[in-house]
This record gives sequence, C-alpha cells and structure tokens, in this order.
Amino acid sequence: MEVDCRECAGCCIDWRSIAPDGVELDHERRGAFVPIDGTYNLVPLSGDEIRRFIREGLGDALTPRLFVADDDERSVRIGGRRLAALDDRPVFLIGLRKPPKPVAPFGTEPRWLPSCVFLDPTTLQCRIHGSETFPDACRTYPADNLALGTDTECERVEAAFGGERLLDRDPDGATPRFGPGALGGTVFVHPEPSRIRDSVEQIAAGELTADDRAEFAAIAAATSPGTLDVDDTRYDRARQRILGTSSWVGAAIELWEARLEETPDPSLAVDVEESRGASPTDGWD
Ligand code: SF4
Ligand code: SF4
Repeated sequence: MEVDCRECAGCCIDWRSIAPDGVELDHERRGAFVPIDGTYNLVPLSGDEIRRFIREGLGDALTPRLFVADDDERSVRIGGRRLAALDDRPVFLIGLRKPPKPVAPFGTEPRWLPSCVFLDPTTLQCRIHGSETFPDACRTYPADNLALGTDTECERVEAAFGGERLLDRDPDGATPRFGPGALGGTVFVHPEPSRIRDSVEQIAAGELTADDRAEFAAIAAATSPGTLDVDDTRYDRARQRILGTSSWVGAAIELWEARLEETPDPSLAVDVEESRGASPTDGWD
C-alpha cells in the first residue's frame, strides 16, 4: 500500500460539506450497524489503545459510538431508540473526538471542518504519528479496506478533487478489527443500560458531556478481551482518571469551539494547540 497524503487528511476530517455533487460520502451509514451519531470517519480504538490514552492523560480525547438496531433479536430499547445490543446490553465503539478546526484540505480555501483532535490544521499531519498512542486503525489505513475489497477515502478524495492518492493497492499490513475476536477488544457492551438513558440522546445530538464520554471510555477500558465482563475496580479507576484529566486536547477543543465565528486560519493552531502542549508536526518538505 502506498498513498500520497500531502495536503489531504481526507480520512482525518469530515469533508462532506465540501464534497462536489455526486460524490457519495455515506460509507459509514450503509448496511448493518448504522451509528446514531453524525460523526464522519470515526477511528475505532482497541481496549489497549483506550487504556494507553487514559494512562497518558489523554482520556478527554475519547468519545463513544452506539448503533441503530437492524435486528429485533439483537437490540435493546433505551428511551425512544432501539439500539444494536448483545444480551440486552448496547454495543459501542470508542473513537477520537472531532472538534471543528480551521483546515484547508485538497488545496481548498481554509474553512471550519470537524477534524480529528490530533490533526495539525497547519500541516494536515497527525500529531501522534509514530508515537505509542498512534492508533492501529490509522497506521494500517487504507490496507484494511483494500483487503476487504471496499472503497477507500483516498479514492473518494481522488473522485472529488482529482489527483492520485492511492498509489498502490497492495493490502499488506491489513489487520481487520471486527472479526469474531473483536468483542471486548474493539467492540464493547455497556452492562447497565439504565445508567446511560440520558447519554444516548446526547450522543445522537453530538452534545456529550465529559461524564457521558468518561462513562463509556471507562467501561471499555475495564472490559477484558473476548468477554462482556467489566471489572468494577478498573472501571472506577479509569473513570476518575479521565474526569481528572485536563490535557491540551480538552483545552484546545473548548477554544476551537469558542472561535467558530472567526475567519478560519490554520496558523491559529500554534497558539490554540502547541502552546498548550501539542506536539508540532514536521510539514511536508
Ligand atoms: S489519529 Fe492522526 S491519523 Fe488518525 S485520524 Fe487522527 S489525525 Fe488522522
Ligand atoms: S485519505 Fe488516503 S491519501 Fe488522504 S490522508 Fe487519508 S490515507 Fe492519506
């Protein structure tokens, strides 16, 4: 697999609002397991990765995803929604938050687009690339899609803005995440649906509180791979750690949201993110 990511970041941002007519960006919402939230290209994290983010004091970068049930048997009703479930417990993933950032992908003018918390808006490079916290899903993208024979974000960007992004279709390095071993590894269940009644609507509206996010991330961190079992002690510890976190990520998200009315300027990232502790990126030259 070889890709040209310069001035792209298509897989790190939500660029649906600038896609030309005729380019369909609905790959996450086709078939079974349609998310209840409106996020585009959520990066699914494994339990090990979630625990690592929490240990590193970056637990406030994490956010949950629940799914609409497409099957009466494997569903649970919470409030007015029927959610995908196992044994009456809702199934969820944990991914990375996507606040609005001023970005100029594909050679376009700068604008506010939902962007991964770790994307440097100035260079459109990943701030955690090569670090211990760099997610496997990003490291192997788009090899998994190539291995499964599904289309890639690189090709969607090519279709929308021209140029060549996907330079080699060899799926070497693919590590499919949603096979039978995914339960407790990348796919989690919440053990007490009554505890998340209010969170479900917050997730659907994209208005989660820190408590909502910490609840799901702590359950995932306390789940043992291959099981539905949640360790209460590990859950309490993870939840306290997340709620006690005040990383550059959380501070930057608040600042970006407060500046949404301003002219989008990618160079603001130095002040908003790097001055608070975000690692700079190298740029392309
Ligand atoms: S972690 Fe890095 S590579 Fe992955 S989506 Fe975020 S910015 Fe992109
Ligand atoms: S969409 Fe493809 S080319 Fe663009 S940043 Fe992602 S991996 Fe690179």
